[in-house]
Amino acid sequence: MLMISPDALLRLRSETRAPVTLALIRPAPVKKLPRHRREAIVDALAAMMREAELTPFAIEGPGRAAIRARLCMFGWRWGQADAAADEAVQAALARVGAKRPDWKQGQPEWTQDGVTPQTRERCARCAKPLPIDDDAHWRKFCGPVCAQAAKVDRNRRRDKDERYAKEKIYRLAWAEKQQPRACKLCGTIFKPKRNNDYYCSRDCGDQSRVKAFSASRRSRGREMQMVCEAVRTE
Ligand SMILES: [Zn+2]
Ligand SMILES: [Zn+2]
Repeated sequence: MLMISPDALLRLRSETRAPVTLALIRPAPVKKLPRHRREAIVDALAAMMREAELTPFAIEGPGRAAIRARLCMFGWRWGQADAAADEAVQAALARVGAKRPDWKQGQPEWTQDGVTPQTRERCARCAKPLPIDDDAHWRKFCGPVCAQAAKVDRNRRRDKDERYAKEKIYRLAWAEKQQPRACKLCGTIFKPKRNNDYYCSRDCGDQSRVKAFSASRRSRGREMQMVCEAVRTE
């Protein structure tokens, strides 16, 4: 049997294979959002950040991803889209005066230094009594099932918040591009927030619904009357 020595194998490989080189990383040329678009995006982000639960940083990640995704759909390169999205998000954070927490403070169940953790008697999730043993002072859950489930719950809540923030940004971006339309009831020109926004205000919408309802009731009444008359003439 033919045996190839390790040296020969190496030589053979180096002769037959193309040398491996890493792809060159060329930074994408900077592409900027048009000024009025950027202003509108930063305004919308800042408004969301002011209302954000717990911290304005809750909007940072989903905001950046949502803007980047939309820019990519409009043909921007990923790097350019990401840089522009990040720039807008950071500007919004600066506008609301957000101060970035350090790593430790950013953890989900952070407590200040020097706080003595309370000794629990019951599981934080299912409220079953915890076993009393040497580990009792740090135990929070009755077992791995509850600990894992609590983590899943927390992540699910966070994902829901992130999805909601992204949706809101998509909708704002959509609304920003719409042409003003006339209210179907009073004719006032307004900018729609959704595709099926036909009225300038809630008042106009309510009034038109009342009108439509009474009209349908009237026509139903007429139909009933016709039926009754038809029955009578039989
Ligand atoms: Zn439990
Ligand atoms: Zn109206």
